[in-house]
Amino acid sequence: MTTQSHLAHRFQTLIVGSGPAGIAAATCAAEAGHRVGIIDDNPNPGGQIWRSLRGQSTPDTSHGDGASEWYRRLTATSATRLQGWSVFDQPEAGIVRAERQGGTVHLHYDNLIIATGARERFLPFPGWTLPNVMGVGAIQAMVKGGLPVAGKRIVLAGSGPLLLAVAATLRAAEAIVVCICEQASLRQLAPFALGLAADPAKIMQGLRYKAATLDVPFHTSAWPVEADGDGILRSVTILHHGEKQQISCDYLACGFHLVPNTELAAMLGCRIEADNVAVDELQRTSISNIFCAGEPTGIGGLELSLIEGQIAGLAGAGQDKEARLLLDKKRRASHFADRLAAAFALRSELKELPQETTLVCRCEDVPYGSLKQHHSWRAAKLHTRCGMGPCQGRICGTATHFLLGWNADSVRPPLLPVRIASLASLEAPLNSATSNTQETP
Ligand SMILES: Cc1cc2nc3c(=O)[nH]c(=O)nc-3n(C[C@H](O)[C@H](O)[C@H](O)COP(=O)(O)OP(=O)(O)OC[C@H]3O[C@@H](n4cnc5c(N)ncnc54)[C@H](O)[C@@H]3O)c2cc1C
Repeated sequence: MTTQSHLAHRFQTLIVGSGPAGIAAATCAAEAGHRVGIIDDNPNPGGQIWRSLRGQSTPDTSHGDGASEWYRRLTATSATRLQGWSVFDQPEAGIVRAERQGGTVHLHYDNLIIATGARERFLPFPGWTLPNVMGVGAIQAMVKGGLPVAGKRIVLAGSGPLLLAVAATLRAAEAIVVCICEQASLRQLAPFALGLAADPAKIMQGLRYKAATLDVPFHTSAWPVEADGDGILRSVTILHHGEKQQISCDYLACGFHLVPNTELAAMLGCRIEADNVAVDELQRTSISNIFCAGEPTGIGGLELSLIEGQIAGLAGAGQDKEARLLLDKKRRASHFADRLAAAFALRSELKELPQETTLVCRCEDVPYGSLKQHHSWRAAKLHTRCGMGPCQGRICGTATHFLLGWNADSVRPPLLPVRIASLASLEAPLNSATSNTQETP
């Protein structure tokens, strides 16, 4: 028998992730008349690019890329918004479990849309675990959250368009961006830059970032080989066109493009192909009532995430005809994803970055030398505890995939570290647990 409490937890469409893809999916499904829930582990909606600014509970609308309009549309629907909840398990088909400090909920769904986004790829090099060496997206999030960086010397290094976007954020916060080091060569980047000419929105975005960072040196074929300091970062050594150069700095923000968050989809049994969640043209995964939209299907940028979110929301709500109207747009936006992948493909020299003593798994303190003795991720895990700490291999698993070609053979619950009480399934009432953020019809 369905209890009253379970009724409150039951959705025709449940979306995991309230970044651009999730917001678009929830809006379209709710506008099509579905009873919708959207859940996210951040305290506020917006995902990575629209992450809210300090003290605000709404997405960052300063990019002028449609955030405010999407948020207005979402809040005009009756979708239930659950912020601050992490989905960590599926106790049985059609139900996911989520945890927030102080409670666990079981959420029942007819259709699930996975919109869990992407994360940065970190590659280990000597000194990468020093305080003040951090992710490019991490420093952006911290600055949006109020970290004062005015007058601080910051080096940005790694790969991908995020380097330029974050340089612009840091300049706006009055930091001194010493230089941007992109591992890709000029030859690799040129076709990508030329291809932007066909896309006025992307040209405008690129020009905005470039205007904000005009006086910042942008080095291609450059990457960090060592970070130095006496307990805290003091300098970074960059290899630039084969020459080493030591640069003093207060922060090194480093990230080697992005990797899709496919773990939830994999845990639910959806097929993963070439590191992405496999979907059909209407974003349906290999499990018929589970859809996936945005970065887990491949790194494609904001526009593609929004289109895929709309298609998944409409298709999940049975509006296939309306969803199909977006397919041309999706095809065009997918070309950008292909160009991104080619432009920022990692060079093989980066496999030489870690030394024997360089920590690869920083949760469990496992150095590269110990890992190399094993032949698979599973063997390394069993013998060294690599990937068994709080990040559950999200950082070191991604690094060893690149460095050693290893793949995780399975993803098992809990997806994230959770409290024993959550594992014991002590369920909190949804309405009390979400009273500060839930929008009710
Ligand atoms: C660190 C970072 C910074 C970025 N900054 C920029 C930028 O400045 N400019 C730019 O153009 N692009 C940026 N991007 C790229 C941008 O995020 C994408 O282009 C696009 O917007 C992704 O949208 P999305 O909805 O697919 O994913 P996201 O925006 O990543 O949203 C996914 C959401 O799902 C949540 N989630 C994941 N797993 C769970 C779970 N198990 N339970 C609950 N919630 C979960 C995440 O916390 C997140 O809020 C950034 C990407 C990253 C990784």
